[in-house]
Amino acid sequence: MGSTAQFQQLEKLGEGTYATVYKGRNRATGELVALKEINLDAEEGTPSTAIREISLMKELKHENIVALYDVIHTDNKLNLVFEHMDRDLKKYMDANGNNGALDYNTTKSFMYQLLRGIKFCHDNRVLHRDLKPQNLLIDSKGRLKLADFGLARAFGIPVNTFSNEVVTLWYRAPDVLLGSRTYSTSIDMWSAGCIMAEMFTGKPLFPGANNEDQLQLIFKLLGTPDERTWPQVVDLPNWHTNFAHYQAQDLRTVFPNIDLVCLYLLSMILQLRPDQRISARAALAHEWFKEFNQDI
Ligand code: ADP
Ligand code: MG
Repeated sequence: MGSTAQFQQLEKLGEGTYATVYKGRNRATGELVALKEINLDAEEGTPSTAIREISLMKELKHENIVALYDVIHTDNKLNLVFEHMDRDLKKYMDANGNNGALDYNTTKSFMYQLLRGIKFCHDNRVLHRDLKPQNLLIDSKGRLKLADFGLARAFGIPVNTFSNEVVTLWYRAPDVLLGSRTYSTSIDMWSAGCIMAEMFTGKPLFPGANNEDQLQLIFKLLGTPDERTWPQVVDLPNWHTNFAHYQAQDLRTVFPNIDLVCLYLLSMILQLRPDQRISARAALAHEWFKEFNQDI
């Protein structure tokens, strides 16, 4: 473990659900870093499980995962030292998109990199659980990396007491919204599908206001499930029989500018049933990515 004195603190980069992130400069090497400062509850003392969990992330090394260089633990703060990236995907879309929408090739490249990062996590039995544009970072060379994970599990449900970022439901899978507790890797794939649609249109796919509204928006697009289409759905805690009965819409009319190959992949990701949702591995091998997969 190092000391925070090795870094010169520069401007604030962001404020998220758990922490404040500053740009920093390593005084010895001049290297830029991102310093994520997490205030710890003085009453509860050292969250040793959280520290162990976060330290494990140091081993999670991949091109599409933001590198964690160090964990510095002081009295009432946890400082995580990350590699510095240009900006998050939300800010990138706002700055470079056409009303937020990215061009086709950029969307495809970001989606491929997102899936590679997810696959690596899942291969290492790590769930991200909170994938959204604000938690994906982009550098000046167009590289995309997953950030802000492990924390969800380390700290439990975000309490959001020292930040103004609202915890969003928009990327949450229907099985989770319905109260399923057995969720696994498929929850990250759902988020990836929502992010894919958002990159194409510049608009969040399912901008729900609360749990019920979120489910309603999802069912409006993909159809309301029932015992026949999803037998286990009726056993989920938040399932009730008063959901409006929507028919699934044709994705071709919802996304008229997107080609069929791409829409097939999107439809395999946005499956209501977690057991039918495509895995990151299978998605990477999909025909939509054939130009990236020529060597293998
Ligand atoms: P939180 O857990 O509070 O959401 P994040 O890790 O998501 O914290 O960071 C909050 C914001 O800070 C991000 O959305 C992003 O804009 C910015 N940020 C985080 N890490 C970096 C980094 N390594 N490089 C550049 N900006 C970053
Ligand atoms: Mg975040």
